[in-house]
Amino acid sequence: MSGKAVQSLEEACEAFVTWLDGRVVAAGRGDGLDRLEVDPSGTFWLGRLACEDEVRKGTSDDRAERLDPCAIGIRFRPAQAPPWSMTVTVRARAWVKDPKDGPDPDRRWWRTGLVEEKISVVVGADGGIFGAKQLRDALAAVGAPGLTAEVRVDVEDWHRDTELVVQLVNTSPEKSRGGVTDSHLYETQLEVSGLATTPFQLEALPDSFRYDRDVPAYGINVGVEVPAPGVFRSSDTITVQTVRPGYWNSSRPEPTLSFERLAADPMPELAALVKALEEYDHTHWSEPALAAREVAEGWTSGMRAEADKAAAEVFAELGRLRTGLELLQTNGEIRLSFQLMNRAIGLSAKGRGYDAWRPFQVGFLLSAIRFLADPADDAKIVDTVWFATGGGKTETYLGLLLTTAFFDRLTGKRTGVTAWSRFPLRLLSLQQTQRFADALAGAELVRQEANVKGAPFSLGFLVGKAGTPNKIVPKPEENEIDPDSPGMPDKYRVLLHCPFCRDENLRMKFDRQRWKLEHHCANKQCPWKRGALPVYIVDQEIFRFLPTVVVGTLDKAASIGLQQAMRGLVGPPQKLCSVEWHGFTYATRSKTPNGCLVPDCQGTLNPLPMPAERFAPSLRLQDELHLLRDSLGAVDSHYESLLDYLQNELTGSHAKIVASSATLTGYSHQVKVLYQREGRVFPQQGPRSGESFWTVRKAEKLRRFVAVAPRGVTLEHVSDRTLDALQRCVRRLIDEPSAVCTEAGIDPKHVDELLSLYGTNVVYGSTLYDVEAAGRSLGSNNTVDGINVEQLTGQTDFDEVRDILERLEKPEAKFEDRIHVIAASSMLSHGVDIDRLNTMVMLGLPLTTAEFIQTTARVGRRHPGLVYVLHKIGRERDAQTFRHFDKYVSQGDRFVDAIPITRRSRRVLALTLPGMVAARTLMVHEPASKQRLSTPAKLRQYVRDAKLTPDDEASAVAEILGLVGPEDTLHRQQIVEWVRDWFADLEDPATKAQFISQIGHPSPMRSLRDVEAQAPIHD
Ligand SMILES: [Zn+2]
Ligand SMILES: [Zn+2]
Repeated sequence: MSGKAVQSLEEACEAFVTWLDGRVVAAGRGDGLDRLEVDPSGTFWLGRLACEDEVRKGTSDDRAERLDPCAIGIRFRPAQAPPWSMTVTVRARAWVKDPKDGPDPDRRWWRTGLVEEKISVVVGADGGIFGAKQLRDALAAVGAPGLTAEVRVDVEDWHRDTELVVQLVNTSPEKSRGGVTDSHLYETQLEVSGLATTPFQLEALPDSFRYDRDVPAYGINVGVEVPAPGVFRSSDTITVQTVRPGYWNSSRPEPTLSFERLAADPMPELAALVKALEEYDHTHWSEPALAAREVAEGWTSGMRAEADKAAAEVFAELGRLRTGLELLQTNGEIRLSFQLMNRAIGLSAKGRGYDAWRPFQVGFLLSAIRFLADPADDAKIVDTVWFATGGGKTETYLGLLLTTAFFDRLTGKRTGVTAWSRFPLRLLSLQQTQRFADALAGAELVRQEANVKGAPFSLGFLVGKAGTPNKIVPKPEENEIDPDSPGMPDKYRVLLHCPFCRDENLRMKFDRQRWKLEHHCANKQCPWKRGALPVYIVDQEIFRFLPTVVVGTLDKAASIGLQQAMRGLVGPPQKLCSVEWHGFTYATRSKTPNGCLVPDCQGTLNPLPMPAERFAPSLRLQDELHLLRDSLGAVDSHYESLLDYLQNELTGSHAKIVASSATLTGYSHQVKVLYQREGRVFPQQGPRSGESFWTVRKAEKLRRFVAVAPRGVTLEHVSDRTLDALQRCVRRLIDEPSAVCTEAGIDPKHVDELLSLYGTNVVYGSTLYDVEAAGRSLGSNNTVDGINVEQLTGQTDFDEVRDILERLEKPEAKFEDRIHVIAASSMLSHGVDIDRLNTMVMLGLPLTTAEFIQTTARVGRRHPGLVYVLHKIGRERDAQTFRHFDKYVSQGDRFVDAIPITRRSRRVLALTLPGMVAARTLMVHEPASKQRLSTPAKLRQYVRDAKLTPDDEASAVAEILGLVGPEDTLHRQQIVEWVRDWFADLEDPATKAQFISQIGHPSPMRSLRDVEAQAPIHD
């Protein structure tokens, strides 16, 4: 135990992570083993060097060399002219195989003693070879005669500045003369001291003024550590430790931003927050402050210009916060909404370990609140929330949602959708949904208590067919669902617990009277006294009840071109059914003759309970904006335009759009393409990387990232062995707690907690193939028995996901019954927040840096995390990242590529056009016709009567899509041609179309998933 009398859990976790990492690296190198039963070259993945002959004989390209290198090295920029002198220390061992009748016939491989040689090098401009004899003798002396190595120094003077490359090369013959059967060197290390160097500079990127661009030296097949000034040492893995951020970076006292305080008396605290921001901005961003840095840090004029631009945006942001503050002071309804929201969030956060906002969350709410006062003007801008560090994004969303929901009610919106919140495909987790439900339940209790008029706050869950039903029918055809379908109703349970009382004892029920699929809370003490919970999970129920907040997946936007009742999400329904619990009605159809969506309804139609235009949703939320790229982004951009158009057509207004993104690179271009609006981001980045008014680095450890470049064995092998080592370590903690505690420096009182926090490892693959392979091979390729593996991917069934999350959150009492390894895909990276997940093995770098950032954020949420990033080192991108791994982790956001997106793809236009025309027919022409336009015959008649022409229709569509510029001639031509064909099809007396969606070809998209999400596309 170290000096301190009492070790905190946090300190114990840090010590344990350090120990775990040490054990894993040892397993990779073979440290501490004396003998081995199996071939070491098939086992170890770190520290080994193949012999040069062997590597040369293979497909001698860079790739093969990286996969099983024969050299490790360090690249320097010498500070002086040649000759250069330095001391190079080489460390290595060998493994030697005994004959069959050796001392230990079962474990014939033994490890030699350590070779540790200091080699004096003086080298001129031509480079040279050093230490060959010294190393050969040393290897022979430890028992590996015949193995040879040398230090090679190359001078590269074709760069701008001369570079020195110092390498340790395994020069052993492939088949050793001395009887040694393995020509690899193991546990190799290279250390250089006594050489004066200057750092490399990372290339200047646009906002370089924020970053430290120095790189002291580059590793070749290794990382480089600088244990003391002027000493450079190779490391087998590259470790980057990140630290937990603090959220107050001002010398002023931190205002009390608790939910309770802001609910009671928000103004003094908010004023103090804005005052502190003002002071910070002037200290760091004023002209004199920037001028001083320009001199001190030797900025170029370009860097200064970038800094000036950033400063202007920082002060604009300050201005918005001031405006928000003023509105809260002067507008009673906005202030009351904000206070009620705080009360509601306070209720929903109870028992979750937090009772206050972080300053940046309140900062965002203040900056956004203006849209309530001037929605038309503010909707011109898309606000993007970018929180690099720590969570808090969902809560911030919810704060905005609830403020808006209360504001809507207080200003006469008694019912209808306040916000439609969309998540990318398959990324809406049950946990995420639950948080929305909990927040709305809190708001509903507050609404009742504060006597705010209107319908109860409610939640809708609008996802693809795989999750919940589109509708429930009395007599099912094909894949339709009826009340007695298999699994009904339990299979469709969405909530994990009651949002009002947290009781997990929920009961699903299908109420035939009301024709509703319901969640019921069985707790008698539950504060919700009105029967079924106010949560709607069937599409048609969402249309009938238009819940306050609809959460759903992105792809559902396609329904707007298929389903006329979708108009409830952009504008008013038609009427209200007279029968209790039937809800809103829509256009009539043969199966819904009066427009009520409940089968066989005999009700009559009542007028809407509020002015039609108030049905317009106030907000559209887009989560993970950066994923809307390539063809998915292109398709969505057309549908966003359609949603905007329909809402404006039906209600005369636009929804405010708020998005979140993991990346800042190119967001303004992306927003422009997607929404045809200007983009703005919150918060503005600080004056230096990792530091702003809103965040500051603290001492507490966040995640330890360990980059691994596997050598000589497969990535799967390394993943298996890493997980195996991690599992072996936690099991040792059970079997020999005192030994482990002594080794790791841990107070034994923390053992149970550590076992829970580090006993479940995540193995993460970007592809389903990787994940499944990892899950499978683990069972067969480990030294530890009884590893329980579960998979969490897009293919995992809905109810299975729920069970797994439950088991992860509340682990079984006995360790052997718990889940030990979760094999997961990107499904994990969104909204799965489990504090027990603190170790991860990543199989290759994900396709995007954003995915890397988000996925790794799933571990170490509250306690120090450990992430192994196994590089697929044969791939150029992985090799590049390995080289820059520390900058990649610490400045990850700069490595995010600009997002490829366009709305001018003609291929995509061909896919989206039918939906545009269909939506106009359903939601504009049909209401205008005052009759049912559900069949081609009726539509044909209407088209004639109203004298609609293909050219008019085509120009309306071009207008919606913003394809009106001189550069869009071809696009307009394409639209005209398609619409003409559509009219011709409609007029064709021989048409086989029974429904209007069958007119024209192709049919409207059924889901935005109909495109291949990642296919690159062009204008
Ligand atoms: Zn309850
Ligand atoms: Zn009805």
